[in-house]
Amino acid sequence: MNNLLETPIEYLKGVGPARGELLRKELDIHKYADLVNLYPNRYIDRTRYYRIKELQNSGTEVQIVGKVINIKTIEQKRGKRLVATFTDGTGEMELVWFQGQKWIRENLKINTPYVIFGKCNYYNGFSMPHPEMELLEEHKQNLRTAMQPIYPSTEKLTQRGVSNKVVMKMMMQLFRETQALFKETLPEKLLQELHLIPKNAALFNIHFPKSQDLLAKAQFRLKFEELFFIQLQLISKNLIRKHKIKGHAFDVIGEHFNDFYQNHLPFELTNAQKRVIKEIRNDMGQPVQMNRLLQGDVGSGKTIVALMCMLIAIDNGYQACLMAPTEILANQHYTGLTELAEPLGLNIKILTGSTKTAERRIIHEELENGSLQIIIGTHALLEDKVQFHNLGLAVIDEQHRFGVEQRSKLWRKNTIPPHVLVMTATPIPRTLAMSLYGDLDISVIDELPPGRKPIKTVHRYDSNRLKVWAFLKEEIAKGRQVYIVYPLIEESDKMDYKDLMDGYESISRDFPLPEYSVSIVHGRMKPADKDAEMERFAKGKTNIMVATTVIEVGVNVPNASVMVIESAERFGLSQLHQLRGRVGRGAEQSFCIMMTGHKLSNDSQTRMETMCRTNDGFEIAEVDLKLRGPGDIMGTQQSGVLNLQIADLVKDRDILSLARQYAIKTLKEDPSLSKPEHAALKHTYLELTKKQNIWNYIS
Ligand code: ADP
Ligand code: MG
Repeated sequence: MNNLLETPIEYLKGVGPARGELLRKELDIHKYADLVNLYPNRYIDRTRYYRIKELQNSGTEVQIVGKVINIKTIEQKRGKRLVATFTDGTGEMELVWFQGQKWIRENLKINTPYVIFGKCNYYNGFSMPHPEMELLEEHKQNLRTAMQPIYPSTEKLTQRGVSNKVVMKMMMQLFRETQALFKETLPEKLLQELHLIPKNAALFNIHFPKSQDLLAKAQFRLKFEELFFIQLQLISKNLIRKHKIKGHAFDVIGEHFNDFYQNHLPFELTNAQKRVIKEIRNDMGQPVQMNRLLQGDVGSGKTIVALMCMLIAIDNGYQACLMAPTEILANQHYTGLTELAEPLGLNIKILTGSTKTAERRIIHEELENGSLQIIIGTHALLEDKVQFHNLGLAVIDEQHRFGVEQRSKLWRKNTIPPHVLVMTATPIPRTLAMSLYGDLDISVIDELPPGRKPIKTVHRYDSNRLKVWAFLKEEIAKGRQVYIVYPLIEESDKMDYKDLMDGYESISRDFPLPEYSVSIVHGRMKPADKDAEMERFAKGKTNIMVATTVIEVGVNVPNASVMVIESAERFGLSQLHQLRGRVGRGAEQSFCIMMTGHKLSNDSQTRMETMCRTNDGFEIAEVDLKLRGPGDIMGTQQSGVLNLQIADLVKDRDILSLARQYAIKTLKEDPSLSKPEHAALKHTYLELTKKQNIWNYIS
């Protein structure tokens, strides 16, 4: 039976060499098994009869019962067409023919009930070109599959006559030849526990559904199966890593950590922070490399967590590093961490592109002899010259800006790799995290420090700018500071740059000296000038900071309480959320004002509404995922993994959780899948790992 499924597709009756070639090229169908796995995109429900008054201009096929009440030929320059008026008592529509008019005219029965079927168009009323028609009486006597499958197709296939009907026929032929004896892939126990229908029945009903109910069961079973095997692979990969990749066991909780925790905490840790530190501490206590993702919304307090983890490394006699994507951010971490760790008397230094040669030499030396305990930096840390004495923990901030390759470069510096903690403020929806980072462990800080007032967010049109400016003046009068951010997609984009400069000029005019002072920061400035200007704003010497998205990551000015985002429709949701996170860091009520033009696309409208509705980064990430699709969010390089056959990460998140839960359970009971009841499971699992190496996208 299994060999039969390996049969090349051209041997299927009705296919042959020419169509075989076409199927291979267009749909990647090489053998019987591939055709069986060509699932319909959708189904037309022939059990449903529409009424004319419920028709919508959605371009889908509908089935209606009614009568033709008159028929006429309309002559136009481009030719004749035959038009019939069709009614079902709830309304009227037109049936239209361009071809075969004579036959229709002679055979169509007026005032007799018909069932018509086809796609509806709307133009001054509904019309259906070339409907399939059947007398109601005959229709009642015919047997048919209730749900008609619509298969994926391409232009070439349609052109060369491989229509949907032809694909349906091939599928029927295949089921006939193979007698639908498809091997079960899941253990019996699992089928029973989850009430899953057998593989056979699922495949049959996905192609020839007998009813809505059976179709739903078939879809559920196949989606579960798909996600289950992905999770099985990711989780077992994680288990293998834990068994195979050695790590430093940090078994001491020593003086620095305890001293800091007992005497120098600047504030009480939130419960989430405590929980996450415990998770990380447990992980690093094992002689296995930690590979953990730390998610926490902007302002959730990841920095102090990072520091405390670094202290554990130091207490165990190791060095720690923190890598940030930009110089500004590295500087800020440096300032923040040295301040926090000041009473501990540690040797902490920073290494970036602009570190002077003399200083650089000292850093290299101290890193190698081990006297430098914490190094903070940018990509500069990855240079070959940088050698650690014994790097025990690498913290990486804002991971999406570092490629996987760069990360492993850091690892290669040691025989035993350091523990890795990746921190991100871009909340990855759980569903995505589960499927993409199934082989990483995840910690989440899901609680903001106390006393934060939710940021009030509003959407204003450009035409209301005067009112917005008046509001800014009120806030500045109260002693607050303001960000005004302009989109700059590429640092070289001339138009954007001009917008920014024009904006800066008019803002300087509207907020004149000496009452107000305005800073500007953008990517064309020298790093030193940028930093100096940031510094002025941070110290409160200027009231307004006009900037590009340079300030997106990391800037921390607690007194800045208003964020104005210009041309907000041009920003993505996660960017808007990141920008908003720049305010709301102090005790005062903060505001985010998104400025846009009047004309907005549906997606932009949704983005504005979402931002106004919620401050919750995870909720925003979910909406973002829906708007953009998962591939976009994670970058193209990882979208391969999302090339799922039937499941949808957004819509099927519940099935995903279930699949994950059962994959974990299965592997816990039988890590090598060697129990007899897991034979089929193991077989499929091995087939999949052989075929697809897409799971290697990370580390
Ligand atoms: P992020 O997660 O965005 O990196 P930070 O670590 O920069 O957040 O913290 C944001 C701000 O909140 C900082 O000013 C920090 O000092 C403060 N903070 C962090 N944790 C707490 C806490 N438990 N209680 C009060 N303030 C905190
Ligand atoms: Mg941070």
